[in-house]
Amino acid sequence: MFVIKHPLFGLKRSEEFKNHCRIAAHKRTKRIGYYFSTLARKNQVPGMQGKKHTLKTIKKMSQCKKGSKNPFWRGGVSKERDRYYSSYKYRIWREKVFTRDNWTCQKCNTRNGNGVEVYLQAHHIKPFYKFKELVYIVSNGITLCKKCHSLTDTYGGKANSHFAEEARNVAD
Ligand SMILES: [Zn+2]
Repeated sequence: MFVIKHPLFGLKRSEEFKNHCRIAAHKRTKRIGYYFSTLARKNQVPGMQGKKHTLKTIKKMSQCKKGSKNPFWRGGVSKERDRYYSSYKYRIWREKVFTRDNWTCQKCNTRNGNGVEVYLQAHHIKPFYKFKELVYIVSNGITLCKKCHSLTDTYGGKANSHFAEEARNVAD
């Protein structure tokens, strides 16, 4: 195979030459030396440079990007469930349930610590899909580890199948 070698291949570059290359590369990438004239600078609009929006403005800006105003809006496809589980109120509810149960699984009594790692979950005793008014009631929650929780019959997607079944029954 024939390879064209760089004209400086094998030769030692002087420090001076190396420096020259460095500066040239720096100028190329950072565009140093491409300045606006003082007049051009004066005519530039300063915009938000060095300033901060007020909280009110930030809120306004966020409002006009929310929901149907967002280009990613797909017509409200995120289910009620998803909205619930990402809500702040749900996190508070879960925290309260865990604290009441002393961060211990109420079925098998395991808890974190002493080299044991348990993934705790807050379970709705009366299922979420049926009792919408009880979803934030602490007494309707119970702390379970992931294993025990998965044994309940409304765990994860199972509740959805229940719901589908009931809907079918109603339809019949
Ligand atoms: Zn358990």
